[in-house]
Amino acid sequence: MDVKTAEKHVKDLQNILNQYSYDYYVLDKPSVTDAEYDKLLRELIEYEEQFPELRSPDSPTQRVGGAILEMFKKVEHRSPMLSLGNAFNEEGLRDFDRKVRQAVGDSFSYVCELKIDGLAVTLLYEDGLLRQGATRGDGTIGEDITENLKTIKSIPLKITDPITIEVRGEALMSKKSFEALNQAKAERGEEPFANPRNAAAGSLRQLDPKLAAKRNLDIFLYAIADLGETGVTSHSEGLDLLDHLGFKTNKERKKCANIEEVIAYVEGWVEKRPNLAYDIDGIVIKVDSLEQQQELGTTAKSPRWSIAYKFPAEEVVTTLRDIELSV
Ligand code: NAD
Repeated sequence: MDVKTAEKHVKDLQNILNQYSYDYYVLDKPSVTDAEYDKLLRELIEYEEQFPELRSPDSPTQRVGGAILEMFKKVEHRSPMLSLGNAFNEEGLRDFDRKVRQAVGDSFSYVCELKIDGLAVTLLYEDGLLRQGATRGDGTIGEDITENLKTIKSIPLKITDPITIEVRGEALMSKKSFEALNQAKAERGEEPFANPRNAAAGSLRQLDPKLAAKRNLDIFLYAIADLGETGVTSHSEGLDLLDHLGFKTNKERKKCANIEEVIAYVEGWVEKRPNLAYDIDGIVIKVDSLEQQQELGTTAKSPRWSIAYKFPAEEVVTTLRDIELSV
């Protein structure tokens, strides 16, 4: 393909993906399924790899998240809230493993966690007290949603030790709460939420904490922003510290000695996923040692020491389309 034709495809893909991102991140109202979005994004990545001169700084491949809603106070993150690279199959996972081994050698372990399908948030505690809670936003600037987050009962207002710490996690709505909410909305003749992720995001990104309080949201914490400052030497120790401080972490995590164990964990969750009380859209794999994480470093968009395996699309994929076609 010549560069002129490629340029047209790249422009079209960038425009459509930017529109989809706006609907998803800003309006909390996706216009296509995640599988459809991911497919177009992969196409764009392939074009940009083939023709790097067409990769612009505002391309969806270079950005984290979406725009910030004006109605919220802006919060500048003390360290960036990044996205994650994706793997869609076993080969993608093995490729990630090869790159990790090339960089740090063969002596390391992974931690596998469920990839919770919710809204990424950050919580700042000062002297043990919750001071501020914010969305990821564009990764650098987020929205101050402290009052809404305070309505989530599993977020402690005070932690065990009187320390200053910033922690990150995923706010979510359970499948059961989502169904009850949409049922109530239907009875009132209101438009339903597309999925629990959008319901959670929509509940936290509105101005009335009383409304958020009614939505029965929950959270899993999965990271400490400045892990190095806490004295721990690995991600798994960081998760144990979160437990000690009184945070809710996800107990399905598993330390894996190699990529074979990672693949077995992923395969297990493809089976068990429907039985969970909340939605997950994949498995996050992280190099455990903090020192090795630092050796691997990050790109502008995502850490090189972690990858998200994305589950193949479920039947919901066609359902969303069907809804669109039938209205
Ligand atoms: P991502 O969802 O692929 O991964 C990064 C996020 O994973 C983190 O920000 C964090 O919030 C979350 N996460 C959940 N559990 C985690 C754990 N245990 N450890 C670490 N992180 C964890 O990346 P993204 O940048 O948020 O966005 C891409 C996603 O949004 C894709 O799934 C894409 O399909 C979807 N999207 C969909 C549309 C649409 O129109 N349907 C538009 C834009 C984006």
